[in-house]
Amino acid sequence: MFPLAIEAMVAAASQHFGNPSGAHRLARDARRLIDDARQTVADALGVDLGEVVFTSGGTEADNLAVLGMAAVSGGVTMCSAVEHHAVLDPVVRGGGVLVSVGATGVVDRSALAALVKEHQPAVVSLMLANNEVGAITDLEAASNVVHSRSPATVVHTDAVQAMPWLPVHELASTADLISISAHKFGGPKGVGALAVRRGAVSLRARSIGGGQERERRGGTQNVAGIVSMAAALAHNGAEREHTNDRVIRLRDRLEGELLDQIPDALATLPPKTLRLPNIVHLCLPGIEVEALLVLLEQDDVYASAGSSCSSGAMEPSHVLAAMGIDRDLAFAAVRLSLGWCSTEAEVDHALRVIPNAVARLRNHRAKAAV
Ligand code: PLP
Repeated sequence: MFPLAIEAMVAAASQHFGNPSGAHRLARDARRLIDDARQTVADALGVDLGEVVFTSGGTEADNLAVLGMAAVSGGVTMCSAVEHHAVLDPVVRGGGVLVSVGATGVVDRSALAALVKEHQPAVVSLMLANNEVGAITDLEAASNVVHSRSPATVVHTDAVQAMPWLPVHELASTADLISISAHKFGGPKGVGALAVRRGAVSLRARSIGGGQERERRGGTQNVAGIVSMAAALAHNGAEREHTNDRVIRLRDRLEGELLDQIPDALATLPPKTLRLPNIVHLCLPGIEVEALLVLLEQDDVYASAGSSCSSGAMEPSHVLAAMGIDRDLAFAAVRLSLGWCSTEAEVDHALRVIPNAVARLRNHRAKAAV
């Protein structure tokens, strides 16, 4: 978290403890705080004040977008095959339609055009940036494909990963619904927002009761979390250009040197793919990534794998599978991510630790094979 977001959170929790739904002075005080925060979020997303719905994070915002639109007409839901599970699962469980992606990890617009024309879905959800490989979708082009084939379809974008790094207010200007989550941009966990533009006004609440958030999300708002999220968002926006330049340099050095130092290592995304500044995604043939992660952790390098354990068996990630990455390579995939506070010294450390750990595992494997 940004230190100023922690300070904002503590100040709001300790000094402004009124319930924003109440009528007395303390309540009005809390309501004013969240309305100031709402304006900050609205500006960052390029929407009006009344179009911001505060949620408990990205998952709730994504669920509300997909299920809240499906509830309006009982219509079909659709999303790309590489969405986060917060979108994918509501679509799949509701019998919705998945759209294929290409090797660059972004939706195939011809497949999208054909499926939208055929199904005339209630909502299509396409993430602005992918959380595993970092691929960036041209949302304007994709939204045009949707709206030209089915004008009544609502376009949702999960901008959770994009928000820290990209000008979401410009890139998502054609989306009717936009999800964000504070813990991705220096704010606290457990708070986020869904922007609901006019095209999606009919959205139905999933959580009903107190009528908060203009009847779109019942429940007392997390005042301190919301205030802290807005402080983080404003700071993130002011620092973005500078942070991106620095992080891109660190990423390129980390990626370039790992590719040089580790024999047969491959970048997962094709060269020149438009991608986020902070993710290095590599395939390291001959490595069991779970074992690599254990070795890295012993040296204070924390990374994630391109596979996960589901129902007791290892499965390659749905993102890599959808991108057509070979199963064995997907099991050898590792994701290294940088953040606003990553340093040159940390990259030096990672460059000392990772090639060594890979060499150790490969030696071990070679010996075991003899
Ligand atoms: N969408 C994307 C792309 C994400 O990366 C995440 C979290 O990692 C989420 C949604 C879920 O957000 P939250 O953790 O706030 O529920």
